[in-house]
Amino acid sequence: MAFYERDVDVMISADAVQAKVRELAAQITKDYAGKDVTLIGVMKGSVFFLVDLAKAVDLPVTIELMGVSSYHGGTETTGEVRITHDVSKPLHGRHLILVEDIVDTGLTMQFLLENLGARHPASIKVAALLEKPARAKVKIPIDYKGFVIEDKFVVGYGLDYGEKYRNLPFIGVMNAG
Ligand code: 5GP
Repeated sequence: MAFYERDVDVMISADAVQAKVRELAAQITKDYAGKDVTLIGVMKGSVFFLVDLAKAVDLPVTIELMGVSSYHGGTETTGEVRITHDVSKPLHGRHLILVEDIVDTGLTMQFLLENLGARHPASIKVAALLEKPARAKVKIPIDYKGFVIEDKFVVGYGLDYGEKYRNLPFIGVMNAG
């Protein structure tokens, strides 16, 4: 029995995730033909998606990472976000794609889009592997969207539960068992 099987059920298989990543990468390759693109991943959750996406995009790509931490008022995020790790290079004049694992309330993305927009990039778009529209507090335009999911807590492919399960190659859901 694999280590996760008792606690996690598969929601989106590893093959389905990989096929979707290739599809999004092909779209990005088409949309940015002739341009350089900077993929900005939000740590730690989006790192798996960022790496697979970057490998599948047929363009000159640069990679940046940002770390953020949200302030929580109880269990709900307050929308106040603090940058714990910033990008390593100026973003002025660059074509940015902000790469996220999941857009839930949308508050993290809203903050990041405002913050990055103030640095005068040539353009900013959003790639998110998952969207949970049931919990949206703000509308985030997702240009490259993987899967829309129902309001369940998911793990795997970068997403954690107490830092565990990030290394699962599929998207899983914590089961009641
Ligand atoms: P938002 O600001 O959109 O509410 O929060 C986005 C962040 O919350 C995601 O980047 C992720 O870290 C975390 N998050 C939201 N929903 C889930 C979920 O179902 N599973 C896990 N593991 N993290 C989630």
